[in-house]
Amino acid sequence: MRIVVQKFGGTSVHTRELRERAVQKIKQALDEGFSPVVVVSAMGRKGSPYATDTLISLAREEFSQVEPRELDLLMSCGEIISTVVMAQALRREGLRSIALTGGQAGIITDSNFGDARILRVEPERIRKHLEEGYVVVVAGFQGVTEEGDITTLGRGGSDTTAVVLGAALEAEFVDIFTDVEGVMTADPRIVPEAQIIRGLTYTEAAEIVQQGAKVIHHKAMSVAREYRVPLRVRSLTNDGEGTIICDIKYLVERGIRGTGLRPLYSVAYRAGLAQVVIPLGEKPENKLRAFSSLAQKGISIDLINLFPDNTAFVVEEQRASLVKEILEKAGFTVTINAPCAKVSLVGFEMADRPGVMAQLVEAMQESGIEILQTGDSHVTISCLVWEKDMERAIQALHRKFQLDELC
Ligand code: ADP
Ligand code: MG
Repeated sequence: MRIVVQKFGGTSVHTRELRERAVQKIKQALDEGFSPVVVVSAMGRKGSPYATDTLISLAREEFSQVEPRELDLLMSCGEIISTVVMAQALRREGLRSIALTGGQAGIITDSNFGDARILRVEPERIRKHLEEGYVVVVAGFQGVTEEGDITTLGRGGSDTTAVVLGAALEAEFVDIFTDVEGVMTADPRIVPEAQIIRGLTYTEAAEIVQQGAKVIHHKAMSVAREYRVPLRVRSLTNDGEGTIICDIKYLVERGIRGTGLRPLYSVAYRAGLAQVVIPLGEKPENKLRAFSSLAQKGISIDLINLFPDNTAFVVEEQRASLVKEILEKAGFTVTINAPCAKVSLVGFEMADRPGVMAQLVEAMQESGIEILQTGDSHVTISCLVWEKDMERAIQALHRKFQLDELC
């Protein structure tokens, strides 16, 4: 049996017309000889009647605190509704289909409600239905505990559902259908001339996603990388090939990548950040005290610059006041700069190319954008800017590195 997992995101199951397109994609897979497992998200974004955010506000309207277990029960409904609607749409086309909750599909999680971890997948029931000739439609973003409580997997959880099912069923591909053509050189909503990247290795895709490109959820990407599950990110509304994420060997064999091509670049971003700057004074033990006071409270920090007498780093903006409080209690004077955004240029073989930093600084200068901080790894250079400058910073980097000429 050749299995393909096809995931349709919130913006892809929203209207009847889009669902009909999804049905066409499923039929195509059947015509190609695949047994499809379909994973669906809740329909639409905030404001839509069955969107996850709408369900959450329904509970919060009455009470500010909702039992986490019951909040998960409520939040899981959006995807369940989608499975029933999608299974019906398939039946209308004469296909056999069956709708399953995450639990019925065999996704077993711990009981960390709201952000549950998948412990294992029991794929036997799905396999049985596939062998009987059903298209199996699974509710994304959810699982069930050993005790039978419904859990949710956190934001972007449907991507994770699709990838773990792909791994457990040894699917040939996991297709992520979305509202863009694939993984692009930048978010096309910000850079209209962004180009589609036809093929990425797991390592490359993981880095782009880690730096903020939300086209695939980072947890899903980690699972795909770990289990070597080939992913295809594609558009629901056109027939392009999209982006394939797999081993380099496959990309080279199909002529998607080869020697002599330009090193790949993409610009990713993460908004909603705060920069924390603290003078550390003369005493060397202050360094440890500053960082361990945050570690003890479970606060993760990023883009860390440490100098002999001061340090700067980045936290989520929503945690900034808590961070300030903790550090002030520990005796430090704290400056918070917010809201900020981290804009990153991800490029492979970048470390071997001199002058990348100079080009980055030049791009920012030409656009009059202040750089608050920078950081780098061998494949990434990131710079922190004010959030108001974020879009212009992304556009400036895309232009400077001529990413519109990638393909
Ligand atoms: P879905 O509802 O299908 O899961 P998401 O909104 O989670 O869709 O992800 C798709 C969005 O990711 C696109 O609409 C696009 O704005 C954004 N995005 C960010 N970076 C990139 C990138 N490098 N390439 C493509 N899309 C990107
Ligand atoms: Mg998504």
